[in-house]
Amino acid sequence: MEEKTLIFGHKNPDTDSICSSLVMEKFDKNLGFDVEAVRLGDVNKETQYVLNYLGIEAPRLIDEVCEGQAVVLVDHNEFAQSVNGIEKAKIETVVDHHRIANFETAEPLYYRAEPVGCTSTILYKKFKEENMEIEKKEATLMLSAIVSDTLLFKSPTCTAEDKKACEELAKIASIDINTYGLDMLKAGTDLSDFTPEELINIDSKEFVSGDFKVQVAQVNTACIEDVLQNKVEIEKAMTDFMNQNGSNLFVLLITDILNSNSQAIVLGDIPVFEKAFNKTVENNMAFLEGVVSRKKQVAPVILNVL
Ligand code: MN
Ligand code: MN
Repeated sequence: MEEKTLIFGHKNPDTDSICSSLVMEKFDKNLGFDVEAVRLGDVNKETQYVLNYLGIEAPRLIDEVCEGQAVVLVDHNEFAQSVNGIEKAKIETVVDHHRIANFETAEPLYYRAEPVGCTSTILYKKFKEENMEIEKKEATLMLSAIVSDTLLFKSPTCTAEDKKACEELAKIASIDINTYGLDMLKAGTDLSDFTPEELINIDSKEFVSGDFKVQVAQVNTACIEDVLQNKVEIEKAMTDFMNQNGSNLFVLLITDILNSNSQAIVLGDIPVFEKAFNKTVENNMAFLEGVVSRKKQVAPVILNVL
């Protein structure tokens, strides 16, 4: 077991999971706690853009924790999305903006949940509440997380609080949100050197309802057609994943970040998907107009019909 409390976001970490872990580390260190931000998977290209911009390293990679390990969860709470061994860890704190599900602890904890668009928006408020000064580095990290999670304020998950926080942080970081934000999002849409197996794992989450396992993966792109050129190989990778993981349904959202739509590739229990979205799946595909948020527009819709 490690002496330090480990802080991490979900598996297949996105920009919010990595940036919020680093910001939470700074917050806790300011309060005198012995903590370390770590990560549960590879850093994606969008997040790498942020780390390069700041000239900093990614947190250390871990894949499991020992019994009794003290941990802080950011940007997630569901055990299926967390570190291996989480059931036996000592969860001290959670800071999150997702539904609370499949979550249980043996001991009391600090739990901060708000229905805002990004974990970093909550962290921004925590800094304010403690009258803690926000430095340029943390401002950039939080701003990046908010831009990522809200797709530059275009996602339906974006709230007025996210926008306000981001604008304040932009002043501290001396960043033009639109210029920096678009460059950052575009860096994340370069899918050219991903194998189909890697592509479906860039940002993939499992949701469980009873015995039913739904995998919902998402990739951002500026051109859906480009991604569909490899549809056959992608479907093969999805099928392999389902067989290995015992998933009942796999939905891959190919999200056009410029026009805010998603093309879904659907495999497995297709009738569940069709019922959820009231759409016919043709050739394993369905076009979801105006859908960009897995959290708000896809996962709950599917879980609802189960
Ligand atoms: Mn996330
Ligand atoms: Mn998030």
